Amino acid sequence: MKVKLLAFDSMGVRSTATVVYAGGLRVFVDPGISYAPRRYGLPPHRLELERVRELKRVIYEEAYKADVIVISHYHYDHYDPQADFYEGKILVIKHPERNINISQRIRAAKFLKHKISLPEKIYYADNLLLEVGSLRLKFSQPVPHGPEGSKLGYVVMTLIDDGNYKVLHTSDTQGPISESVVEIIAGMKPNMIIDCGPPTYFEGYRVSSSDIERAINNIIKLLSIPSLETLIIDHHTLRDLNYKHRLEKVFIKARELGKRVLTAAEYMGKPIEQLEAMRRSLWQNLK
Ligand SMILES: [Zn+2]
Ligand SMILES: [Zn+2]
Repeated sequence: MKVKLLAFDSMGVRSTATVVYAGGLRVFVDPGISYAPRRYGLPPHRLELERVRELKRVIYEEAYKADVIVISHYHYDHYDPQADFYEGKILVIKHPERNINISQRIRAAKFLKHKISLPEKIYYADNLLLEVGSLRLKFSQPVPHGPEGSKLGYVVMTLIDDGNYKVLHTSDTQGPISESVVEIIAGMKPNMIIDCGPPTYFEGYRVSSSDIERAINNIIKLLSIPSLETLIIDHHTLRDLNYKHRLEKVFIKARELGKRVLTAAEYMGKPIEQLEAMRRSLWQNLK
């Protein structure tokens, strides 16, 4: 099995685009990409927009070659409603009507009505077990987009199992913040978790300190899952320049247990470039 982390916040964009090659198949989870319209009261810097364009090209190249495309929920950093790469693919999408908030329900309906390329088959991901060739794709029940009862609705987590190794993409569960999601993840016995991390940069503003604290404690619980070897932390957490300090307890526990915790950029051997979090200095220094 080969895991390719194509575009993530540690690479300077908002995305969790992941391709897994296994059993002769390519599974693409969340082929979306975006940027923060405002950060520190500032619009995106030229470098951020260039990076979005660059990584969007990479996403398209990989998506055209994919056999299965998964959409965990309908936020633009996770799906691309304008794309023409769904044609002939197995498309697995978060249920467009159940366990979904109003804005995403509207987006999902539009997406399904106006798809510009026609998938071969569409499945609803919620609680689905799908066997494609020798691969088992297991999708979680809908789980909260962050805290229980979040206004942002629900996401679906994707487990890709080739019989030897299991990779889990947790989508925007944010740590997870919700305790019940930890139980679900532990039951899946993943070897690798791609974790979107808590939005520490929103602490005390859009997310409470107690939710952040719970998310960090929950990540530590994930490290204790016996099968787990590698934990990727990225997305929301990499919008905080201080993320290493914020996750100090996680890194200490990982060292203690001999488990690997790293960002998507590090996993792919690239430099960490938190362009969104650096936006203020980008505008000051690099006009
Ligand atoms: Zn989201
Ligand atoms: Zn997201």
